[in-house]
Amino acid sequence: MANARPGAGVAVVGGGIAGVAAAWSLHRSGYAVEIFERAPALGGNARTFRWSVDAGEAESPLLVIAWPQKYYHNYLRLLSELGLATTSLPIAYFVKHPHGVFCQDGRTELHRRRAADFRRWDRLIRVTGRINDFFLPKERHDSLYHFSYWNPLNLVPLYALTRCFGISARFWDEIFVPIHCASLITTSMKGMPAVVAPLLESVVALERPSRLQTWADSPRHVFERMTERFREGVHTSCEITAVRRKGPGFEIEDAAGRAFTADRIVFACQAPSILAALEQPSWLERTVLGRVRYVDDVDPTFARFVVHSDTSIFPEPDRERILSNYNTYTEVDEEGRLECTFVLSAQNPALKDLGRPMLVTFNSRKAIGKIEAQVELPNPTHTLSLGNLANMLLMRWLQGRGGIHYCGSFTTPEGGRDLSFLSGLVAARSIGAAYPFAMDASPAVADYHQMQRIMLGRVVPDAPRAV
Ligand SMILES: Cc1cc2nc3c(=O)[nH]c(=O)nc-3n(C[C@H](O)[C@H](O)[C@H](O)COP(=O)(O)OP(=O)(O)OC[C@H]3O[C@@H](n4cnc5c(N)ncnc54)[C@H](O)[C@@H]3O)c2cc1C
Repeated sequence: MANARPGAGVAVVGGGIAGVAAAWSLHRSGYAVEIFERAPALGGNARTFRWSVDAGEAESPLLVIAWPQKYYHNYLRLLSELGLATTSLPIAYFVKHPHGVFCQDGRTELHRRRAADFRRWDRLIRVTGRINDFFLPKERHDSLYHFSYWNPLNLVPLYALTRCFGISARFWDEIFVPIHCASLITTSMKGMPAVVAPLLESVVALERPSRLQTWADSPRHVFERMTERFREGVHTSCEITAVRRKGPGFEIEDAAGRAFTADRIVFACQAPSILAALEQPSWLERTVLGRVRYVDDVDPTFARFVVHSDTSIFPEPDRERILSNYNTYTEVDEEGRLECTFVLSAQNPALKDLGRPMLVTFNSRKAIGKIEAQVELPNPTHTLSLGNLANMLLMRWLQGRGGIHYCGSFTTPEGGRDLSFLSGLVAARSIGAAYPFAMDASPAVADYHQMQRIMLGRVVPDAPRAV
């Protein structure tokens, strides 16, 4: 569909980073934007939590905690544009399994027992890295977006490949899953394509702690700064339940029965919400959107969580060590069930010395005292699977069709801030908004163009720079 003229009204459904990115970019290019978010605050999964501490109140991120600096080219441009500082965060994992403890220091018993598997894992990473390099030109920068359709590793499940390399099934259950579940938000990873193995290892290495980046402040500020010039267009606690065509535009309705109009729609929420809101979804919309799989469809481990300060959930001899040195504690029981705790206060420099353990426990099986909040994960993320990768490519047939555009996690190859943010910029570009940063020869611009190829099947010629 042709670009909408500046001044046209665009309704963005979903106020996570993808929707807010689309609205921010469109507003800078002169469009009249409105964001509709069903939660009481913008942010989606990037929630900010307020803790009472000795000194009064402190804020922390809750679920979306950190990101790998070398891959987040556009998100970092955004933070710099908004004047928001970042800080570096060591990410270390402590795993307690019925067969022993593993804690990335090379000395624990599980590490010794699985030493041969670790050597084979290193070999797998080297070999898959070489195959990926063969299918992608080497001079390309570190990117989450470049992938080759011809790479056979797209079609090989990583689990099957580990077995071909002689890696034991125990290594997968005792080490790989307990560590990666915290970043992939699922324990169901056997269908994950092998092509992602080198990327995973470069973000979260299995054998040693990694360094990631986080906000020096809380994520709340990102959303406040992005929307400060169009506050009147932000509707929170406003769940969109119907989107119907009216004349050349749309009428949309929220759960309270309020009606709004728009010339274009950007859906930046989960696929089931979109299908529920579309009045008469076409066959293509039903097929493509109906096929998106979310982590809680296949695995309930991360479907609910408890926010608390009860340190008795950690085993006694290691309690103090976990509280001060480890970012994530994962405990597997005899039946293979997994409980995972983000130790928010352990390593974030801003939270470390506030005198209060800040814990988020998923799939808790213990009696936890002093619960601050008990929450059902409202916005699950899509699974990292071959099916979703194929579906993501089919989305380009829907983009812009009849004035409806899509962005957000499921329109991207993985799940993460930079990806959702960039998907919002691409949805805005397909309506007519300009790229909001300098259009130079940087990795950020290369990623932006690559994301256009993924989402739209082509690169849209650049619009004049927005101010
Ligand atoms: C537990 C967890 C931890 C994560 N940790 C990280 C991390 O550390 N680093 C990282 O980079 N990524 C992380 N991710 C991935 C992260 O979710 C994405 O980076 C990003 O938040 C996705 O943004 P989004 O805008 O696409 O979707 P969301 O954040 O899911 O936003 C979608 C929004 O749409 C709203 N919505 C849905 N339906 C409607 C409706 N009908 N009407 C109005 N509004 C609606 C929802 O309320 C929500 O606010 C994590 C994900 C999860 C689930």
